[in-house]
Amino acid sequence: MAFENLSERLQKALRNLTGKGKISEEDINKASREIRLALLEADVNFKVVKDFIKKIKQEALGKEVQESLNPGQQVIKIVNEELTKMMGEENVTLTKSKHIPTIIMMVGLQGTGKTTTVGKLALRLKKQEHARPLLIAGDIYRPAAIDQLKQIGEQVEVPVYTEDNQDVAEIVKHGLEEADQHKNDYVIIDTAGRLEIDEPLMEELERVKAVAQPDNILLVVDAMTGQVAAEVAKTFNERLDITGVILTKLDGDTRGGAALSIRAMTGKPILFTGEGEKLTDLEPFHPDRMASRILG
Ligand code: GDP
Repeated sequence: MAFENLSERLQKALRNLTGKGKISEEDINKASREIRLALLEADVNFKVVKDFIKKIKQEALGKEVQESLNPGQQVIKIVNEELTKMMGEENVTLTKSKHIPTIIMMVGLQGTGKTTTVGKLALRLKKQEHARPLLIAGDIYRPAAIDQLKQIGEQVEVPVYTEDNQDVAEIVKHGLEEADQHKNDYVIIDTAGRLEIDEPLMEELERVKAVAQPDNILLVVDAMTGQVAAEVAKTFNERLDITGVILTKLDGDTRGGAALSIRAMTGKPILFTGEGEKLTDLEPFHPDRMASRILG
């Protein structure tokens, strides 16, 4: 199971509290130290950990907890609530445009699963809303990327707009005209990725954003890269003011640092998680369920 180590360590840190009739400040300090170490080992950003521990201590040292009948349970409840808050509390869904099409611009570094996720999202919209999405191939630097999107489009039976043009902004403009003609209700734009963030990439994405005026800018990040994913999210957000994140490869993530850091570091929600390579492996992200999963 994902986050096994984190779950185990948090449970252990909290288990010591459950049997106690009354909890001392020392008990809480000890548990906090263990929680802190567990989160750092899970690759959560250190500043996020610091803020988290501060909140836990504040709440747990409150009078109510110490005087309550079952202080151990109370502390577990506090940790659960703060973990949930750290990940954003409510599930956030896509922003819908008042007029069709709702435009979704997908951004992210190469290899994170961006193109696959475009297909997953299209399939989900088809299944859930009987939507008729159009995909636009905007990753023009790698011919393989265009072919890959075409293949994915065939698999999920969704049309893909491609054009032999070096100007991505123009391709997007023409793709949107096509969507208007065919009355597609969603447009998902696949954009270029690089191995690392660089200035030309960011400038190109800004240009695409200006032309597309997307209702959603979703950043795809790889959960397995831990807090690096959270740093990447911070940088993309500063440049593009993203609306949210899709966290891929959660099925292979044993630590959980990305899931736990992204919201706190960017203020932006995780909307979906990728849980496998199949095009059906996309799940809405629920912070409360994730917190409960982590605490076991
Ligand atoms: P892109 O370069 O960002 O467009 O990445 P791709 O969509 O080509 O995906 C890169 C690799 O990650 C492919 O082998 C995908 O099958 C794989 N992948 C994408 N999402 C997931 C996921 O949620 N879980 C797993 N295990 N693999 C994924």
